[in-house]
Amino acid sequence: MDTDVIVVGAGPTGLLLAGDLATAGTRVTVVEKRPAELSNLTRAFAVHARSLEVLDARGLADELVAKGRPVRSVQLFEKLTIDLADLPSRFPYVLVTPQYEVERLLRRRAEAAGAVFRYDTEVTSLTQDDAGVTATTADGSHLRARYLVGTDGARSTVRAAVGIPFPGRAVIRSMVLADVRLAREPADTLTVAAANDSLGFIAPFGDGWYRFIGWHGNRSVSEDEPVELDEVRSIARATLHDDFGMTEPRFLSRFHADERQAPTYRSGRVLLAGDAAHVHSPAGGLGMNTGMQDAANLGWKLAATLRLPDGVGAELLDSYEAERHPVGRQVLRASGGILRAATSRGPFATIAGTIGVGIVSRAAPIRRRAAGFISALGVAYPRPHGAHPLVGTRARDLPLEGGARLAEALRAGRFVLVARAGASAPDLPAALGEVDPAERVLTRRADGGATALLVRPDGYVAAAGLLTPGRRQSRHR
Ligand SMILES: Cc1cc2nc3c(=O)[nH]c(=O)nc-3n(C[C@H](O)[C@H](O)[C@H](O)COP(=O)(O)OP(=O)(O)OC[C@H]3O[C@@H](n4cnc5c(N)ncnc54)[C@H](O)[C@@H]3O)c2cc1C
Repeated sequence: MDTDVIVVGAGPTGLLLAGDLATAGTRVTVVEKRPAELSNLTRAFAVHARSLEVLDARGLADELVAKGRPVRSVQLFEKLTIDLADLPSRFPYVLVTPQYEVERLLRRRAEAAGAVFRYDTEVTSLTQDDAGVTATTADGSHLRARYLVGTDGARSTVRAAVGIPFPGRAVIRSMVLADVRLAREPADTLTVAAANDSLGFIAPFGDGWYRFIGWHGNRSVSEDEPVELDEVRSIARATLHDDFGMTEPRFLSRFHADERQAPTYRSGRVLLAGDAAHVHSPAGGLGMNTGMQDAANLGWKLAATLRLPDGVGAELLDSYEAERHPVGRQVLRASGGILRAATSRGPFATIAGTIGVGIVSRAAPIRRRAAGFISALGVAYPRPHGAHPLVGTRARDLPLEGGARLAEALRAGRFVLVARAGASAPDLPAALGEVDPAERVLTRRADGGATALLVRPDGYVAAAGLLTPGRRQSRHR
């Protein structure tokens, strides 16, 4: 074997995965067809609360937040504001920052942890057998590893090479994208507006540049036709009632969005994550966020599987698809719902009634659920029957004895056992002691709570229970 894991594609998904694997002591090689100095085409700009928590658990969030612009509410169709300020997180907002900033930090971390990068190297085919996977690159050389992960985006070569289909369809064509400067600043929200069969969206990057995405419903334009700033201005005026004095476009393009999901995320020793596994419209700004969370879910499972004798970790590795495929499906449904609501011709009430996810609603509980979904704080994984209600949910960032926070304890990339203040390891309920002490960090909570938590390396609760000897597991936190 040349390495333990080959990660194909150095987008946000591949970079986060490579960093997690290397931090866990796994040998990892990232193969990327772009030259090192060429940045991934900047597409995403919205980093949601859960992704910021994931980055916090890797020591990267504060630096990213310092460069971006926190936006605390999202304005949808002039009628609804989704308020993020009440999110139960250290990051109660969506951070607007270009995708290349996220990638820069993730790459730096992966390199520091020992991941090997091969830029300018395109994977063209691969074969697998009982012991490993061999990837062939465009120059005809081979690279062999025990596992390979395709994080190579929507047109994944890896997915095609193992014969995993990618069913779905194009949901919107000829959207325009423009990064511009403005003479007049819009209100401090991410604004999505639909009017006259058109759709407009504007968001600040925080460094003086703004991203505009628009769609002219009644004008079908070929995707090869160049975008002129005047076209962008006219869509902005039709939807947002102002073009804000747009000037100096640094990036203009036309694109279409597909809604597709691979039916399985694994074929033997080959796994898929990020856009290689699911794509959808940019509505909701969920793509990069979902990909990074795929990676966070997969990384520790793959690293653990590699430490076990061959074949023993199969169930753990299968839980990656079991947990992340349903989330991908929900994300497709939600972003499709937002898009249909935005582009439908019907009046607002009809739109609200026709979308499945209830994102466009004035009812407070639904709005809270919508905020929980968009931020991904509400994502929870299946809980075994009879398990404590916290199992499968994301662990909140608790204060710990000694002044640290749970997110900081998770930076070791291991399980974190959070006990009541003063508790000793032998007091812990059996279920919490299941993880080998060498694979976990023992901490004690400093918030007065009595429930002990075993937190997985990706920040989700693996087990929970009350620590008082002789009492049954509590159902309360
Ligand atoms: C207009 C627009 C706006 C968006 N806005 C948002 C947003 O606000 N928030 C959000 O979360 N998401 C957003 N997205 C989606 C987001 O950009 C993607 O979901 C994200 O980039 C996916 O990351 P990834 O790492 O899975 O794949 P990618 O970023 O596509 O990275 C794949 C990498 O693999 C490399 N590669 C491909 N094939 C090979 C090969 N054969 N060999 C070697 N390397 C290969 C590519 O060069 C690339 O670097 C937006 C998308 C668009 C189009």
